[in-house]
Amino acid sequence: MLRDGMSETLFSSGTAAPPPDGRLEEIHRLLLEYFGEQRPRAPWDPLSQFIYSLLSSRTKTETTYAVVAKLRERFGGWENLRDATLKEIEQAIGDVTFPEQKAVQLKGSLEEITRRYGSLTLDFLAQYRTDKIRTWLEQFPGVGPKTSGAVVNFSTLRRRALCMDSHHLRVVQRLGLTARADAKTTEERLMRIVPESWSAERMDEDHQLVKQLGQTICTFADPKCRQCPLVGLCKHGQRQLAVDPAGP
Ligand code: SF4
Repeated sequence: MLRDGMSETLFSSGTAAPPPDGRLEEIHRLLLEYFGEQRPRAPWDPLSQFIYSLLSSRTKTETTYAVVAKLRERFGGWENLRDATLKEIEQAIGDVTFPEQKAVQLKGSLEEITRRYGSLTLDFLAQYRTDKIRTWLEQFPGVGPKTSGAVVNFSTLRRRALCMDSHHLRVVQRLGLTARADAKTTEERLMRIVPESWSAERMDEDHQLVKQLGQTICTFADPKCRQCPLVGLCKHGQRQLAVDPAGP
């Protein structure tokens, strides 16, 4: 399955891309069985999701939610955040990583959205195709495929996309679903094997499950393959078991 305008390319092994298969469906099933039903997201408007996603890189989810709640409380509307000084914004987002850099990106993006659209909203994006929206969003400093994927998938735009954050990227690469590559290429490769029947909501749930695995079991420094519900499907996990069959 290819997205609009995306040409057929070679798969990681150098052979033609395989037809859609059941791997993602099976992974999803096993993760649901292990972690249980995920609480459905109450989607935010696209601008609020954009602000959250800009702030969230290398920051814990609960910290980013708390910072966004603090911003709402302190500034009332996003226009007031846009018009605040860099120093005020930096201070208000002090709990996320790289607040100095993110304050510049945030203020610059909010000003640029206002300049281009005439007011501070991203609701107008709903009338555009998903690939157009993502290209438009990725023009802003600090916005890459992870952030654009989050905005289109998690917000009220509710488009089919996979948010390739560091956890999702690491897990799918260890599983051997895709060869090592950047977030954009990895998402493109995964989208070819996402079942046609998966809605935007289902892809959001899949992301939540995979991220949870990355945060708790398939961690960066210490993947706990023996405890992992996906070990039977995982190239990295199988290698680990073969190297250390009597391990913990
Ligand atoms: S088996 Fe190991 S490497 Fe594979 S997904 Fe699970 S924890 Fe990660």
